[in-house]
Amino acid sequence: MSAAADPVGPPVGRFAPSPTGPLHAGSLVAALASWLDVRARGPRARWLVRIEDADTERCLPGMGAHILAQLAACGLVPDLPPLWQTQRHARYQQTLDGLIAAGLAYPCACSRKDIDEALAQRGVTHQRHGERVYPGTCRCGLRGRAARAWRFATEAFSTSADRPLQWHDRRLGEQRQDVAAEVGDFVLKRADGPWAYQLAVVVDDADQGVTDVVRGEDLADNTARQILLQRAFGFEQPRYLHTPLVRGEDGHKLSKQNGAASIDTATPAAALAALKAAAGVLGLPPTDAADIGSALAGWVPRWRDLYNPPP
Ligand code: GLU
Repeated sequence: MSAAADPVGPPVGRFAPSPTGPLHAGSLVAALASWLDVRARGPRARWLVRIEDADTERCLPGMGAHILAQLAACGLVPDLPPLWQTQRHARYQQTLDGLIAAGLAYPCACSRKDIDEALAQRGVTHQRHGERVYPGTCRCGLRGRAARAWRFATEAFSTSADRPLQWHDRRLGEQRQDVAAEVGDFVLKRADGPWAYQLAVVVDDADQGVTDVVRGEDLADNTARQILLQRAFGFEQPRYLHTPLVRGEDGHKLSKQNGAASIDTATPAAALAALKAAAGVLGLPPTDAADIGSALAGWVPRWRDLYNPPP
């Protein structure tokens, strides 16, 4: 069981697309799921959209506004103005400074090659999603080298309660990960560049009062890292639900990186067809609703039956 108490306060859900490409069939599933999860909780609940443009190198100009227009064409309109991560640098810096002051973040000078060499010297060859566990080279200082990144002091922070860190997913069930052993001291910010997703997402979810994170299953693996950061900051832990992925004809998950096609929202009929496909992925029964509003309204009670959202 997860040790976390249920969040207090009105239910708040969010959809947090990165504007690196238009909405595709996979991202629409996450958007629809997070919207339904909020609407199934009654009138107090709020659905928010956050444009995750912190990693400015990968974002495309105008894409955030395009995604918002695609969502609106699907009847998915946030209850408050969207939050843009590019406007939050000062807040992220403040939280990083807090971690540094607490001895929980440190500068790191290692390049990828340095990390590979340090690990090879120790005979470590295994990789995790193409990444190696950081060997801790800079934990005790930069030794005159220039900082390339700030890392979270995972090992220093983790207590026996975090090893492994256990959390509950409303669809996937009990999950566990020993972040210190399996991921290591992860990056919070590149020295001259963007904020890392892990730091920005945790700070934003807390500041937006998010009680329920509903997002694609490909992101489930990040959750333990994010819970660890929540514990370091003293933030409340949201509930989690990771939705099924949409796979392309080659069996790989659809993603902007592999050029997934944009959903077609040019007409209400096309948007409704895209929504019906997304609802099917979520296991919702087929609907013969002829317009978007009645299709969405019809799925709300079905969502309740299937995913049992807490009050
Ligand atoms: N911005 C992330 C993405 O588009 C999602 C982040 C999240 O939902 O936590 O993949």
